[in-house]
Amino acid sequence: MIGDMQSWTPNVAGIIEHAKKVHPKTEIISRLVSGEIHRSNYEEVCIRSRKLASVLIKDGYKEGDVLATLALNTYRHLEMYYGISGMGAITHTLNFRLHPEQAVYIINHAEDKIIFVETPFIPILEAIQDQIPTVEKFIVLCEENELPETSLKNAISYEEYIMDGDENYSWPTLKDDAACGLCYTSGTTGNPKGVLYSHKSNIIHAQAALTAMTISPDDSILMVVPLFHVLAWGIPYFGPMLGLKLVMPGMQMEGEPLYELIEKEDITLAFGVPTIWMGLLAYCRENNKILSSVKNTIIGGSALSLATLQEFDEVHDVNVIHAWGMTEMSPMGTTNIPTPEMENMSKEEKYAIQLKQGRPIYGVELKVVDDAGNELPHDGESQGHLLVRGPWILQKYFKSDKDAVDSNGWFDTGDISVLDEDGYMTIKDRAKDVIKSGGEWISSIDLENAAFGHPEVAEACVVGIPHPKWDERPMLFIVTNSGEPIEKQSIIDFLSDKVAKWWLPDEIIFLKELPHGATGKLQKFELREEYNNHYMEK
Ligand code: ADP
Repeated sequence: MIGDMQSWTPNVAGIIEHAKKVHPKTEIISRLVSGEIHRSNYEEVCIRSRKLASVLIKDGYKEGDVLATLALNTYRHLEMYYGISGMGAITHTLNFRLHPEQAVYIINHAEDKIIFVETPFIPILEAIQDQIPTVEKFIVLCEENELPETSLKNAISYEEYIMDGDENYSWPTLKDDAACGLCYTSGTTGNPKGVLYSHKSNIIHAQAALTAMTISPDDSILMVVPLFHVLAWGIPYFGPMLGLKLVMPGMQMEGEPLYELIEKEDITLAFGVPTIWMGLLAYCRENNKILSSVKNTIIGGSALSLATLQEFDEVHDVNVIHAWGMTEMSPMGTTNIPTPEMENMSKEEKYAIQLKQGRPIYGVELKVVDDAGNELPHDGESQGHLLVRGPWILQKYFKSDKDAVDSNGWFDTGDISVLDEDGYMTIKDRAKDVIKSGGEWISSIDLENAAFGHPEVAEACVVGIPHPKWDERPMLFIVTNSGEPIEKQSIIDFLSDKVAKWWLPDEIIFLKELPHGATGKLQKFELREEYNNHYMEK
């Protein structure tokens, strides 16, 4: 028998319409490319999204067309999320830190018809425009009188483009599983792969994410996670659902401008990746500043370290919520929200729990299997391949004709993890980064976090390098606070009571900087390639 409730055809545009009705004057604050602060609100964003959608239709674009953004976190990017997807086209967010060859590959693979581009990124597109024939026009995210000289085909300013749009445009009813947004994985191995989200998966993901974070309607959110990467963790959808004040930093992600924005806009909750917070914490440390308004920060994308957790807690009284997910998961999989039991724990016990990646959000199932695919116990010790399943996890990659999941719907995340009796998941490593030494595994993440606790260490990276006797041995790369090498023995002494003796790195190399990829993650393969023969030649 079928239930008697009303049928529902999801369109994300319903979210911004809801925000317009219920939270019209809640502010959306953006730092523009010029550095100037721009203030908008949900009512304005909704009306301007309607205008954009109506103009796109008038201009001949239709449901299923892929329209790309090469943009920063600003109110215009939010409008494109709704204007493009709401009329039935697909919002494809491009990452401005991609290598040009990758950008060409992705734009051609997606068959983008329009690219909405922020002025500083115009040169990136001018250099490749001959190689991206599907793109018919470029819409520059600026006022009419700010449009710079450019060779981009059919370039027009965003403000001129939407000027005569229909403020009363009404959104179409879309098909049940209509596509909504497209995002490519970073592709550190092989070509980037596209993940095509649906309206339904984005809405369910956003609602579920709200249940798994400590968010209250009066929170003021600093959105450091980029709109171009994995839907900014769902904030552009759950923000307007709950009527949260959103503050977007645009181009300026360094410690000082972030700190200023946080203080000025009374930020209570900040979302970001560890590298950004390291910059902010360093700025506060060096200038004796305290994050006075921030209550919670949600950190994910790479592992949270004890040093970062401790500094947020002890110096700034900010609660850290560790989260884990990936592009293929829309992206949220687990979060680590405080439990009542944690209130009575010692700091050490509490930190030990907070460093775990958290527990699955309702809707996401997790399991850990060995190499043969046998499920491993939830005992906090057995590590294996982390598999996931759920309504906002991909079935197949964009334009692929085969499923990316097994016959029971499980997707292999590529992470090596442990599950415990209380339902917490801990990432030990990425399968390709785990160090296989003498038949045992060494977690590069654990070793990095241990090294990061050393007072002179600004950043640490551990890579498994082929070894004639042990298969692989760890090599530790360090950037010091001063940028200059320090005594290697002081690092080894520091690590000695924190990790097993056989985990200690065979070599420590000091670098001026570590290689980071387009989304801020360490590019370990570059170091692995460069030092591949190091132990073999010894
Ligand atoms: P990429 O395109 O690099 O795959 P994603 O953002 O999809 O970018 O990366 C997902 C991966 O990032 C996860 O599979 C995991 O390895 C890593 N990751 C994400 N969050 C965390 C976290 N909190 N701790 C450790 N690793 C994380």
